[in-house]
Amino acid sequence: MKQSRRYFIRNTVVAATLLAVPSLPMSAARGTVNSKNNKMRLSWTPYDLQLNHTFTISGFSRKTTPVVLTRIDYDGLTGYGEASLPPYLGETQASVITFLKKVELSPFRDPQQLEEIMAYLDGLAPGNTAAKAAVDIALHDLAGKMIGEPWYRVLDLDKQNVPDTTFTIGIDSDELVREKTREALGRFNILKVKVGGPDDRRMIRAIRSVTSLPLAVDANQGWREPSQALDMIGWMKEQGVVMVEQPLPKGDLEAIARLTQESPLPIFADESVQRLKDVERLRGVFSGINIKLMKCTGMHEAWKMRMLAEKLGMKVMMGCMTETSCAISAAAQLYAGMDFADLDGALLIGNDCFEGAKLEKGKIIASGEPGIGVKPTETLHFGRA
Ligand code: MG
Repeated sequence: MKQSRRYFIRNTVVAATLLAVPSLPMSAARGTVNSKNNKMRLSWTPYDLQLNHTFTISGFSRKTTPVVLTRIDYDGLTGYGEASLPPYLGETQASVITFLKKVELSPFRDPQQLEEIMAYLDGLAPGNTAAKAAVDIALHDLAGKMIGEPWYRVLDLDKQNVPDTTFTIGIDSDELVREKTREALGRFNILKVKVGGPDDRRMIRAIRSVTSLPLAVDANQGWREPSQALDMIGWMKEQGVVMVEQPLPKGDLEAIARLTQESPLPIFADESVQRLKDVERLRGVFSGINIKLMKCTGMHEAWKMRMLAEKLGMKVMMGCMTETSCAISAAAQLYAGMDFADLDGALLIGNDCFEGAKLEKGKIIASGEPGIGVKPTETLHFGRA
């Protein structure tokens, strides 16, 4: 019975990813019986993540990341979600809470109406992608718990067949770069270096004085000239760099397409790609896309983006913001078989309040528990204020 349910759900999910059907009729596969009067109840709590190191990328520095944690209760089950809100992306705890107060889940039958509920959320207000992701993740957690399966199993993925996660080294002094690199040794198999600063070669050389691990680099749009970017990428390849993220400003698609054509390394879109609608126009522009739950409104759309990108012959990676093990565990359900992963978000903070996916031999591995497979590690005071 369980097998056929799983098969049914997987096929409906896959069908939805081909955009052939308007909805996921998952309720037919419901594993629990609910009373007609049972309604989904959404609540939330703001939370501030303390970063282990002051984090500098091209143009910004910070020591904390605000998040809003969500909870949806339904039929004796609880689903958890999260909105991570790095300041430069525009959403705040206040804007997320304002959005969540507008969300009325009671007209929906149950958490498995993911397609309908996500369409409803998009209709409430444009943007607010992290706030929408916070609802999406909690719904997926609940829906998985209803059928007693983690999502990687619903999607028929092998949770061990995942790329190594990168561990991010921010732009810093040589001494701090070497210190952060030494902290990563033995735990990670690939490092991610934030470049696009005043002296990228110095950063790479500082890391190379400590380790020969493969490196991914993320310029966060920090390089301005395509010819400068191409020279730098050529040099970086010689230094053991294996991929480049967002080398040029996000709108410079013609210049990026030429760079990708000439680059000896694969070029991934991050800032240039937010949601499903952005993917198709990036074919031939980038080698691949960086999918992040907080950019694309959560797991439902992330999976569709992956399916579409792969259909278009593009590479895919799963990324994250600094976020707790709640959102990281949600991402960990979806990324088996991808080309790269940047899922170190929960490892960069000192006050992770969830337990779920864990770092094992350089990979983030989902827990195996139903839904997104998480539980809080401290008492969190969810409410609707
Ligand atoms: Mg990036």
